[in-house]
Amino acid sequence: MTRMPVSKLPATGTTIFTRMSALAADSGAINLSQGYPDFPPPDGLVEALARASRDGFNQYAPMAGLPELREQLAEQLRRHRQVNVDPGDEITIVPGATEGIFCCVMACVHPGDEVILLDPCYDSYAPAVQLAGGMPVHVALAGTDFAVDWNAVEAAITPRTRMLMINSPHNPTGSVLGRQDLEVLSQLAERHDLLVSSDEVYEHLVYDGRQHYSALQWPALRQRAFVHYSFGKTFSVTGWKTGYCVAPAALTAELRKVHQFVAFVAVTPVQKAIADFLQQQPDYPLTLAQRYQEKRDLFIEALAGSRFRLQASAGTYFQLLDYSAISGLPDYQLCEDWTREYGVASIPISVFYQQPPAQSLLRFCFAKSDATLLKAAELLCKI
Ligand code: PMP
Ligand code: GLN
Repeated sequence: MTRMPVSKLPATGTTIFTRMSALAADSGAINLSQGYPDFPPPDGLVEALARASRDGFNQYAPMAGLPELREQLAEQLRRHRQVNVDPGDEITIVPGATEGIFCCVMACVHPGDEVILLDPCYDSYAPAVQLAGGMPVHVALAGTDFAVDWNAVEAAITPRTRMLMINSPHNPTGSVLGRQDLEVLSQLAERHDLLVSSDEVYEHLVYDGRQHYSALQWPALRQRAFVHYSFGKTFSVTGWKTGYCVAPAALTAELRKVHQFVAFVAVTPVQKAIADFLQQQPDYPLTLAQRYQEKRDLFIEALAGSRFRLQASAGTYFQLLDYSAISGLPDYQLCEDWTREYGVASIPISVFYQQPPAQSLLRFCFAKSDATLLKAAELLCKI
């Protein structure tokens, strides 16, 4: 009889996104749980993909990604972030930011190393650290605005701390790091010689006149950060699973050693399509914030008559709703019950914590057509 392997992730089940999307489908509910748009990608992008495939971009790309795409991305970073990045040895195209994040952790975290995570955090971070043999060290974001308590972060640093993982704009809370946060992070990382994984996949989705600050814009962070981006978010094509990771040449070399044996390459025609699209419309990403802010506001205004309380999301395409005036039940139970009973699926926040605090928050994705958002809000007003 075959001996079962000892699980490397004994406490890990199927992700909440997979489970809630399945429940939404089974219940015929409006799916505001897993984050993805229900509207088409920008005009011209699908045609660019078809053209790329017709033009013969169907075989393996170079391991680091198509050079023409890396050139366009370096231009994007110059244009929108005022940073210079070498497309040759500082940009790697990856099959989704999830893979880039996994590879940077695998490349740098050794058994026994500690990695600081800010809870609630995206669900792929801790398993990546564990699979590398590292120890996730969880520090909770503070207060109702989910600010980083930098004193608590510094107190969690030990001689074994190797990396700090940040995410702004932040999934699941919608909070956004300010200039001062990056300033403090930069000093901490330098003082304690830490690597940084900066997940900026929602970089273009910041609202109410806020600005996105990138780790690439602080010289000390630029030397020690892996910065992750995803075309899924920027071009409304989550299913195309393509993104990129920016890091200094020495770190990129280590990332690529892992990437070449995890996926080897990202999908070729997708890379060509994005390169062509960006060449035609380099400022398309700047149009996103206003459109998503309008969706956020439509959703919030339609919820005005509900019993939920909320603070408008500062970034991402997620809005938290506080149900403490409605129920004392745990979020993971309520979000299942309400998917079945009221027909709107959401994501519980407690699953993104090692130790969830006492709070009553559900996450709703507003990357949906206006009609879908209005219908969902109408149903939520009945609760
Ligand atoms: N980080 C965060 C914070 C995300 O929300 C997502 C969304 N899936 C990812 C990383 C992964 O992006 P991708 O789909 O490109 O792997
Ligand atoms: N990032 C998306 C979310 O937070 C979904 C990612 C996934 O399904 N793994 O909802």
